[in-house]
Formats: sequence, C-alpha cells, structure tokens
Amino acid sequence: MKPCLGLEIEGVRILADRYHNMKARLGPKFYKHGKRAGQLRVPGIELPFTLDEFRTWAKVQLFNGTFDRTVPCSYCNRPLNIKTIRFDHLVPVSRGGSAGLDNLAPSCSDCNAEKGILLPEEYRALDAWLFNNLSPQSYQNVKRKLRTGDAFMRMRFFVKKEPALQAEAAL
Ligand SMILES: [Zn+2]
Repeated sequence: MKPCLGLEIEGVRILADRYHNMKARLGPKFYKHGKRAGQLRVPGIELPFTLDEFRTWAKVQLFNGTFDRTVPCSYCNRPLNIKTIRFDHLVPVSRGGSAGLDNLAPSCSDCNAEKGILLPEEYRALDAWLFNNLSPQSYQNVKRKLRTGDAFMRMRFFVKKEPALQAEAAL
C-alpha cells in the first residue's frame, strides 16, 4: 500500500510540535514579570538532539519508516498512531533520567499523564495495586485523578506504609 502523503506531512508537523513542547518543558525558564524579568529562573536542560534527529528516530525506529503504522503504548499496549503517540521519559528527567532519545518511550496520553514522575516499575506497581484492590469504578476514579495531575496522590502511594488506606481516603 502506498503511504498516504497527507499523513506523512501531518506526521512531520506533529513531531515538530512534540519536539518543541518537550524543549520548552525541559529548557531554561526566565522571569516574565517584575524587576527580574528576563533573568534566568530555572536553568533547565537543552535537548541533546535536533528536531531532525528526533523526527528520524521516531519515523525510522518507532514507525518503521511510515506513519501508516501503529506502535504499542509501552505501558498498556494500546496501539498508537502518529496523532495519538506521546513520548514518555522512562526515567523522569527530574529524577536523574537522560533527556536523550534513549530515555524516550512511546506512550498513550493516559499512561503518560498517570505515570508522571514515577519510574516504569513504580507506575506498573501502582496500576496493578489499584486494579487488584479497588472496585472497577474506584479504579477508574483514581486513574482519572492521577491523569488530572494529582501528583501528591501519586507519590503518597510510595511514601506511606498503608496504600490501601491512602487510596481509599482519596476516593
Ligand atoms: Zn498506555
């Protein structure tokens, strides 16, 4: 089958978006207002790869050369196309992970948001625990809370000794 040209063009645009978002999120931050406006607030880190390198890596390594394909989410195996794919830092940069391509994994937006600053094994343990210990409805409820950025709740699972009580208290 001939690759769809529209999809190839869109893929190039989407990957540029993802690259620039990643660059902005990890890069240096500056004060916007007040007398320190323009001064460095957070040093951040520069991406150790160019947009071209990122695109080539994504297209060749992940999509096997054409955006007609799907790749599985690294955590839930959901098939991802070029429109739905997100790029997760396996070891979060905030926890010492590399910002390089070797630390990026394809992820769906749900898993990406739920995982946050957890390591892959921590996220899998959390998900398995929630799945095995909560009713289906509560499981979905907690997952939704994780996705909406309740980082406090995510970390609590690992900090406290009684995860059952902690998860239930959050419902
Ligand atoms: Zn997923």
